[in-house]
Amino acid sequence: MIVAPLSSGSAGNSYYFESDGTSILVDAGLGPRETRKRLEQVGKTIEQVQAIVITHEHYDHIRGAGSIARKYHIPIYLTQGTLDASRINRDVTTTIVFPNDSTFTIGELNIHARRTLHDAADPACFVIESRDGTRVGVASDLGHADAPVIRHLSDCDGLFFEANHDLDMLRMGSYPWSLKRRIMSRFGHLSNDDSMTAVQRMIGADLKNLCLIHLSQKNNHESIVRDMATRLLSRLGATNQLELSIAKQFEATGVYEIARRRPARPRLPALNTQMALF
Ligand SMILES: [Zn+2]
Ligand SMILES: [Zn+2]
Repeated sequence: MIVAPLSSGSAGNSYYFESDGTSILVDAGLGPRETRKRLEQVGKTIEQVQAIVITHEHYDHIRGAGSIARKYHIPIYLTQGTLDASRINRDVTTTIVFPNDSTFTIGELNIHARRTLHDAADPACFVIESRDGTRVGVASDLGHADAPVIRHLSDCDGLFFEANHDLDMLRMGSYPWSLKRRIMSRFGHLSNDDSMTAVQRMIGADLKNLCLIHLSQKNNHESIVRDMATRLLSRLGATNQLELSIAKQFEATGVYEIARRRPARPRLPALNTQMALF
């Protein structure tokens, strides 16, 4: 599977996924022109994109969805709560509603949705699974990583996971207290500390790519997150197993080719074949 974070953070989120001829965007927080430009940075075209899957209705995740969908005749997949809370015009846009906590298919990709805790109508995170069993999780905008989300994102080959803010920077920073309280609540965003605790619980034997996403521009710094994650990985003895990266806001982060090392579902010979050997 090919994964390319095009933009990550409160100024816009968009992630490109491709496998076996199916290409989708998870979130469309950039307008059509900027999305096209970022896709070109990673050697892709917007015409390749067959669907937009939305995590929740906040502006930084949905801003470009309607215009991209109409311009390029792409359907938007979202929960009913997200659709109702959004400004998407259903008369001129193809929308496909999926129930949260369900699995649906787009072309060759299975999308496993799981509800998240965030101050939105019906927010979701996803595991995207390709035909060969490669699983890539993408989750941001979590007030708290609860046990169902941790379970959902375990056993992934690639994980794109929020590390939003440094608690001290947020506490000491210039945000009004009401906003600080919202960010720190169970329906806000994950602090670096909470993110590392969750990552520690989710790292499995198959995880090869860990990318930390949705960093706050004001209350975090790439070097803080990188140091914390590096320390965690070395404590877990996972440094050699994993490629660690931090997603960028103002340019595409790069292209990740993620594959399952061992087949997800080993093929056993059919029973009658086996019997015939004796
Ligand atoms: Zn966001
Ligand atoms: Zn949000």
